[in-house]
Amino acid sequence: MNQEDIYKLLSEVLDPESKRDLVSLGVVRRVECSNESISLQIELSSENPEVQSDLRSQISSLLRQKTAELALRRVPELDLEFTTVGEKPNPLPLVRSVIAVGAGKGGVGKSTVSVHLALALARMGRKVGILDGDIYGPSLPTMLGLEEIPPKIDGNTIIPFEKDGLKIVSIGRLVEPEKALVWRGPMAHGAFRQLALQSDWGELDHLIVDLPPGTGDVPLTLAQLLPLTGAVVVCTPQKVAQDDARRAIRMFQQLGVSILGVVENMSGFTAPDGTTIDLFGRGGAEDMAASMSLPFLGRLPIHPELAARGDTGEPASCHDIEGLGGTLQSLGEAFDHRIRMAERGEDRPTLVIR
Ligand code: ADP
Repeated sequence: MNQEDIYKLLSEVLDPESKRDLVSLGVVRRVECSNESISLQIELSSENPEVQSDLRSQISSLLRQKTAELALRRVPELDLEFTTVGEKPNPLPLVRSVIAVGAGKGGVGKSTVSVHLALALARMGRKVGILDGDIYGPSLPTMLGLEEIPPKIDGNTIIPFEKDGLKIVSIGRLVEPEKALVWRGPMAHGAFRQLALQSDWGELDHLIVDLPPGTGDVPLTLAQLLPLTGAVVVCTPQKVAQDDARRAIRMFQQLGVSILGVVENMSGFTAPDGTTIDLFGRGGAEDMAASMSLPFLGRLPIHPELAARGDTGEPASCHDIEGLGGTLQSLGEAFDHRIRMAERGEDRPTLVIR
């Protein structure tokens, strides 16, 4: 039984007072699970014992059903902790907004888009940090040319790299990348937590978190750890890519994280002679965003310099290339507009699709 199973299960448990499910209420504070035991922390608005016993019996009965479905030998032991609402202290009080960048699958350009959105905001004068949350395949060290710079740790505090006006933290410079690849569940959770909370981010307007692709543990950890302003989902124009992106979008929505927008990457290719070739088609991600009533932030074409300068650690210089620079800046402006709306609370209510 994994975290996703448990979140699905909790999305069927109704709070007897509000008649809404626990996941969309955003009251699930901790989920730790294995086939043997499940430990949950749920935050309630009152200490009403009837509510607690109602929730306990709903969860137990769904857990029995799930055990049968998965043909497990016995029902996992349930450790259910109820806490009452208190203002949860923000662990990063100097960071104004935290934004996740996710994708349904790898290779769609999630890290490329994260870096260029961060750079575009920095060029608008914002203080921006970027956290390489892709702990299974950290690519920011190469993409931002950090390999030659020695990492700095001060006691228990990680000092972010500073480059092109960004503060950057990546697991890729703290452990051997091959080691991170085998991490799962609790270790990934712990590593991510440390990177996010033990880094000296200082005062930031925006912290962009480049998540691992897919719908694994790290987005859940992030949503439990930090108050997220929202998420951006990167998608390529193909139909199959959209199906994966929809899953990532639903995951954010189930975690109560609003979608700031969808970016279509690798949207057509403009050859040096000016002819445009739609390698993977165009507009698919925009249609998907429209069909899910989500904002569309814009398209980024395939541009050889995006790949080349990402390989040599000089992505910032892409913003000065004629045509491409303008595209990146408009994407950044659309992003900035959506962040401001979310900060003012104008992006709600979020459409929750199951
Ligand atoms: P992900 O983070 O989704 O795995 P990356 O951002 O690492 O994807 O991109 C994968 C590869 O594709 C990289 O080599 C990157 O430089 C290249 N790439 C991504 N987007 C573009 C683009 N719009 N034009 C050209 N190359 C791109």
